[in-house]
Amino acid sequence: MAIKIDKKITGYNVVKPEDKVAATPVTAAASKEPPTAEVIQMHESVERPETLVGSTFKIKSPLFEHALYVTINDIVLNAGTKHELRRPFEIFINSKNMDHFQWIVALTRILSAVFRKGGDVTFVVEELKAVFDPRGGYFKAGGVYMSSIVAEIGSVVEQHMKNIGLIHDPEMDEATRKLIAEKRAAYEQAGAKKNSDVSVAAAAATASSDTESSGFPPGAAMCAKCNTQALVLMDGCQTCLNCGYSKCG
Ligand SMILES: [Zn+2]
Repeated sequence: MAIKIDKKITGYNVVKPEDKVAATPVTAAASKEPPTAEVIQMHESVERPETLVGSTFKIKSPLFEHALYVTINDIVLNAGTKHELRRPFEIFINSKNMDHFQWIVALTRILSAVFRKGGDVTFVVEELKAVFDPRGGYFKAGGVYMSSIVAEIGSVVEQHMKNIGLIHDPEMDEATRKLIAEKRAAYEQAGAKKNSDVSVAAAAATASSDTESSGFPPGAAMCAKCNTQALVLMDGCQTCLNCGYSKCG
C-alpha cells in the first residue's frame, strides 16, 4: 500500500510484522460492534508515561554487606478498559555496596530492555533463578535456598510478576493445597505419637503450632523442586510439605 508523504519527515520507526498485529484494533473486522479504542500490547515503541506504578523489595543476603533494594515499575496499558494490562516496564537496583555496581547496572538495563520488548517476559525468572554462585548459596528465613544473589533477584521478579497477575502458581491449585495440608497433618500426628503418651489430639495441636512458627519440621531435607527445606520421610517416601512433591509420585 502506497502512502503519499506530504509533510516533512521528522522521525521514523521500522514496522515489524508483530507490531502490525499488535496495533490492529481488535474490533476493526467486526463491523457490527461499536468502534472501541485499540488494544495496546507491550512493544518497543510504547513510550514511557510520566508516572509508573511500582514496588520495591529488600534483599538481605549473607553474601552482601548491605541490603539491595529492587524496584520494579509497571506500565498500565488500556487503563480503565476490560483490556487493562499491567506489565513490568523497568527495574532498578540500589545498594550502598558499590563493589557490584557494574554487573548490577548491566543486569537491570538488560532486564528493562526485555520488559519493554513485550511478549512473554516471564522466562527471565527461570533464567535468573538458574544462576549458581560457585561459593555456594544461602538460606533465607523460612528455609528457602537461594543459589546466588542473581537467583534471589529472579525470585523477587517472580514475586512481583505473581503480585501483578502475570505468573500464576499452576501446581498450587485447591487439590494440591488440600493434599499438602493432609500430609502435613499426618506427619505432625505421627511425630506427636512418637514423642509423648499424652492424648494425640493435644500433642498434635502443640506440634502444629510449633512447626508453624518455625516454618517446616526441623531436620527436613531440601526439596529439589521448590528449593525449600521441607522434605520429610512419610511412609518410606520423601514428601515435600511445601510444594507437595513426592518421590513416589
Ligand atoms: Zn517442594
